[in-house]
Amino acid sequence: MLAIKNLTVTIGDKEIIHSLSLSFAPGKTYVVLGPNGSGKSTLAAAIMGRPDITLSEASELMLDGESLKNLSADRRAALGLFLSFQSPLPIPGVSVEELLRAALDGKKDPVELHRELRVLAEEIGLAEEFLSRSIHDGFSGGERKKIEAVQAAVLSPKIAVFDEIDTGTDTDAVKRIADFLKKRLPADATRIFITHSPKLIGLIAPDHVVVLKDGRVAEEGDKSLAERTLQDGFEAETEVKSDPSS
Ligand code: ADP
Ligand code: MG
Repeated sequence: MLAIKNLTVTIGDKEIIHSLSLSFAPGKTYVVLGPNGSGKSTLAAAIMGRPDITLSEASELMLDGESLKNLSADRRAALGLFLSFQSPLPIPGVSVEELLRAALDGKKDPVELHRELRVLAEEIGLAEEFLSRSIHDGFSGGERKKIEAVQAAVLSPKIAVFDEIDTGTDTDAVKRIADFLKKRLPADATRIFITHSPKLIGLIAPDHVVVLKDGRVAEEGDKSLAERTLQDGFEAETEVKSDPSS
């Protein structure tokens, strides 16, 4: 269980998330929506521990009762946190296989990893060459997001956060990625999808939906909240909420 309480996030001298509380249960699928700049990627970065993020004294970030607050991103990854980036950066000279070998730190036999990667690449629709090329270097949008999904599958995370895994992908790739993750993530993994894609939301069938606005939770609900929000837009949602007669 990932429990976030009174999370207040500052980058530089700008407070971006204001006393946000949310919890994410094992085996459940979540969608986080919100207008551009509402703090979705910043929330993901705070969960993962990006070094430029500062949390207030009162902020609580707990994984299975243990505080993550003072742990570096690599320690959090070792505890089972995974983040797929909205815009993954290329790392010239480092292939996904080398990256995963380093991340797994001897926990998986390299020959076994090599075999597993070939199976996973084929399953998600990536040619084998993507396993040995510099990661994300000259990859198309869809190829980037597929490689992110493959990494999630290999690392078997407890908490998997996908920041716009659909962005830059075509509609077939979205289906491919959604089906792949459904099959390949551990059944008890917590899945958090930051997305505005009706197609992806339909495929992953979230248990719970969170709408962020201006660094705060504006609304929470079931799948119908996502459908309503995407249909009516975020402004309409604000109007409904601020109408005292509703
Ligand atoms: P979203 O993912 O919901 O579009 P972000 O979390 O990326 O939103 O950004 C939320 C707000 O934080 C925006 O106003 C953005 O400009 C600001 N922000 C994000 N990163 C930084 C940064 N490194 N320095 C200053 N402001 C930032
Ligand atoms: Mg974002």
